[in-house]
Amino acid sequence: MKRTAIYPGSFDPLTNGHLDVIQRAAKLFDRVVIAVAENEGKHPLFTQAERVTLVKKAVAKLPNVETDSFSTLLVEYVAARKAQAIVRGLRAVSDFEFEFQLALMNRKLDEKIETIFMMPKDTYTFLSSRIVKEIARLGGDVQPFVPPHVQLALKKKLKKI
Ligand code: ADP
Repeated sequence: MKRTAIYPGSFDPLTNGHLDVIQRAAKLFDRVVIAVAENEGKHPLFTQAERVTLVKKAVAKLPNVETDSFSTLLVEYVAARKAQAIVRGLRAVSDFEFEFQLALMNRKLDEKIETIFMMPKDTYTFLSSRIVKEIARLGGDVQPFVPPHVQLALKKKLKKI
């Protein structure tokens, strides 16, 4: 039986921290599906289609990783994709409370699905899409934090080039 994990998130935009989690999950599962959430409520900088394109390009060389989008309830999406697990990243204690609540709620909704937490390399523990956007907005250099094509997309979106 093939083991599939879904890694859901806003990915607005994808960062090296997300990529670190993806690479770790790809070693544990036969297939990892990165599921880009619509998340209109979060007023994303990039459209869902743009976020999918940025993720796709970043994972093109990983053979067992694919990219998709979803706008339904996560557990329904996981079941529809015949996946066994949800992968989420844990950076620090500050992530824990929300992630814990989410994982237990998802378990209530579908007890067959397990949530797996992955910790990134220590240098990425301070990294978030929100901070990357803030730095880019203020004209700072985001090169150490995101792949080159994401850096370019941020510059274009924020009209810095
Ligand atoms: P969401 O809106 O669902 O939180 P994000 O794209 O912000 O979407 O995050 C998706 C997942 O990736 C979350 O589990 C988050 O904790 C994790 N994550 C985000 N940035 C990092 C990072 N630098 N290192 C490890 N995990 C991360």
